[in-house]
Amino acid sequence: MIMANSEPSVPLEVPRAVPHLDIPVASATVDVRVINTTSYQKTKTENLLNPPVAGHDTLCFPSYAFLITNHNQGANILFDLGMRKDWRTACPPALTPYISDNGSSAPLQVCIEKDIVDILDTDQGQTGITSHDIDAVIWSHHHFDHRGDMTRFPAQTKLIVGPGLMNEYLNSEIHESELKGREVIELTKTEFSREIGGYPAHDAFGDGSFYIMSCPGHTVGHLCALARTTSSPTSTFALLGGDCAYHCGEFRPSPYIPLPQQIPFKSTTWAFGKEVKAAPPVLKSRKLLMCAGDLVRDAVHPHRSAIEPFYDTPHEPVVRNHADACDSIAKMEVFDAHDDVLVCISHDPALMSVLPFYLYTLNDWHRKGYKQKLHWEFLHDFDLERSLGSPPLKQRSR
Ligand SMILES: [Zn+2]
Repeated sequence: MIMANSEPSVPLEVPRAVPHLDIPVASATVDVRVINTTSYQKTKTENLLNPPVAGHDTLCFPSYAFLITNHNQGANILFDLGMRKDWRTACPPALTPYISDNGSSAPLQVCIEKDIVDILDTDQGQTGITSHDIDAVIWSHHHFDHRGDMTRFPAQTKLIVGPGLMNEYLNSEIHESELKGREVIELTKTEFSREIGGYPAHDAFGDGSFYIMSCPGHTVGHLCALARTTSSPTSTFALLGGDCAYHCGEFRPSPYIPLPQQIPFKSTTWAFGKEVKAAPPVLKSRKLLMCAGDLVRDAVHPHRSAIEPFYDTPHEPVVRNHADACDSIAKMEVFDAHDDVLVCISHDPALMSVLPFYLYTLNDWHRKGYKQKLHWEFLHDFDLERSLGSPPLKQRSR
């Protein structure tokens, strides 16, 4: 039952052929730095995800921002901002009873240590990029755990949002004061002039280094982005997925990457708020856990499937439009199945245990094998021991 010695990766089912993404050829790249914005959330998993999976009663997650640098054009963009410290003024009054940062019984617990501007401006010149060097901020969408505090950026920093977002949410969920004196660019559908992996795509710098892509469903105007992380000897990419999915169990496993006979993942842990500050930017552990894939399928997976995601795509009102959300996640599964694309959703805690974080770039992720190390890390969220019986896991040293 436990296979701890042979190498992983033989799938439990024959994988479906992976569709092409049709990413244009280009030589320009961007630096991608993932920033832990030091804002964390905790809620009951059932509030967002179903059906239940053993042991995953609580969703506990950070909010990432991504710093994108195009050296050829001397331009810096932030994709998402995390939360703002004074979140009470940023949330619509109707929402604040549901959110707490003081341990009360509100459904959503938050812990916010810093505004992203303070993170950028206290790097002591190590990146050479401060909040004054940010040409534009992209909101993947308007939720308060992504839009940060725009008022702390200089007036020349533009704000870029997806089609229809302002019309839908300005004044109801976005304060007009957040945008005062700033150019707001709401991309129109005609600006998404090509398709990549089925997503309408806008070539943000005009050089093929960074595509903003329309990915609706979670909200109106939800955006994801595709960053070219290398172009030689081959192109590799990071897909910044925003909240296309809250949790990797919404798009893994897939028909393209079924559960393997042996599932490898690292022995890391994740904790809420301050405890996570101790997490190193790069994992030091040499332990690798192995778990039999057929047991995970038969005893943990709610649909007893090796090719369907653990979690169903949420319905309204968790997402704005269920059909669009299903479509967007199905497209993301295809990106996820490509060896040359690293999928990074906004709230995947596992990124912290595998990827190098700001100040470092993640551009050499492919050479370092981070995608394989990351893929099944989300299984840590599930109580495999309780589901599989004891002892389901063995450790081995590498
Ligand atoms: Zn979010």
